[in-house]
Amino acid sequence: MSRVLITGITGQDGSYLAEQLVAEGHEVHGTALRSDDAVAGAEVHVVDLAQPGIGDLVRSVEPDEVYNLAAVSSVFQSWQQPALTAAVNGVAAAEMLAACRDLTEAGHPVRFVQASSAEIFGVPSEIPQTESTAIRPTSPYGAAKAYAHSLVNVYRGAGVWAASCILYNHESPRRPEQFVTRKITASAARIARGLQERLELGSLSARRDWGWAPDYADALRLALRADEPDDYVIATGVSHSVEDFVAAAFSRVGIDDWRSVVTTSEGLLRPGDAPQQVGDATHARDVLGWSPTLGFSEIVDAMVDADLAALDG
Ligand code: NAP
Repeated sequence: MSRVLITGITGQDGSYLAEQLVAEGHEVHGTALRSDDAVAGAEVHVVDLAQPGIGDLVRSVEPDEVYNLAAVSSVFQSWQQPALTAAVNGVAAAEMLAACRDLTEAGHPVRFVQASSAEIFGVPSEIPQTESTAIRPTSPYGAAKAYAHSLVNVYRGAGVWAASCILYNHESPRRPEQFVTRKITASAARIARGLQERLELGSLSARRDWGWAPDYADALRLALRADEPDDYVIATGVSHSVEDFVAAAFSRVGIDDWRSVVTTSEGLLRPGDAPQQVGDATHARDVLGWSPTLGFSEIVDAMVDADLAALDG
C-alpha cells in the first residue's frame, strides 16, 4: 500500500484517479481549493496552488507517489489569467519537484507524475505528434505546461523519479461545461427537452483527439508504476472535428438537423488554436501496455446519456 498525493483531486481526472487508488487500498491524500470538496476515502487538504506552500505539504505528507493534476485547465481561461496560469500550472510543479528531490535525498524516494498536455506542441510541427515533437506552445496554458514538462526532465536528470504524460483531450460526464465537449452534450440534452433554444460555438473545424477520461487516469497510474520514469503521449490516434462532435451529440438526442439550432461566433474563437491535434501513443502502448477502451461515438453517447439522465431525474 502506498501513500499517494493527488493535486486537483476534485477535478475530472483527479476524481477518477482517486476512486481507482482508494479501491486499490492506498492511503490517498489530495488537494482542493475549497474545504467542502470531499472525496470518498481520501484525505483532502485545502491548498491554493497559486500561493507558495505545496512543497511544504509534499514534505509533511511524505507521499510515495505524487500525481500533479491541479491546473487552470482551460486554454480560454489561461488567456484571461496568464499569471495565475503560470503560477498554478508551472511554478507549483517546480515547488513539488523540489520537495520530491528533498525527500528522495533524505532517503524517502518519491515518484512524481505530471499531467502534461498536447497544448505544449501549440500548432504542431508534425502529425501525429510523438514524445519528440517540437515543443512550441501558442497559449499561456501551453507555455506553463511546457515549463512544467521541461522541469520534469530537469529533475529526472537530478535523480528524482519523475514522469510526464502528454495528455490529449479526454472527456466524460464529469467534464465541466466550460469545455466545448460538455457544453455541446449538455446543450443538446437541454434543447432536446425544450429547455434551451440555441447553442453558440466557436470554430467547428478544429480537430481534436478525444479520449475517455478514466482511460487517461489509468495511463497516469501505469506511468507511475513503470520500471523507469519517462515521457508518454496519451492519445487515441484518431482526430474528429468539433462539427463531428456536434453531429454525434445531436444525433444521440434525435435531432439530425443540428444546423437549425447551432450558431458560430467569432468571439468564441481562441488565438493560436491548433487546427488539428492527434497523438501517437505507440510508446505508451509498448512500454505501459496502455490503450484506449472507448471510441469517439461511445464517448459522445455516454456524455449525452448522462446529461439526459440528469435532466430526467
Ligand atoms: P479539471 O477538471 O479542471 O481539474 C483541475 C483541478 O485543479 C480542479 O480540481 C481544480 O480545483 C484544481 N485547481 C485549479 N486551480 C487551482 C489552484 N489555484 N489551487 C489548487 N487547485 C486548483 O482538469 P482535468 O480535466 O481533470 O485535467 C487534469 C489535468 O490534466 C490538468 O492538469 C489538465 O491541465 C491536464 N490535461 C487535461 C486534459 C483534458 O482533456 N481533460 C488534456 C490535457 C491535459 P477546482 O475544481 O476547485 O477549481
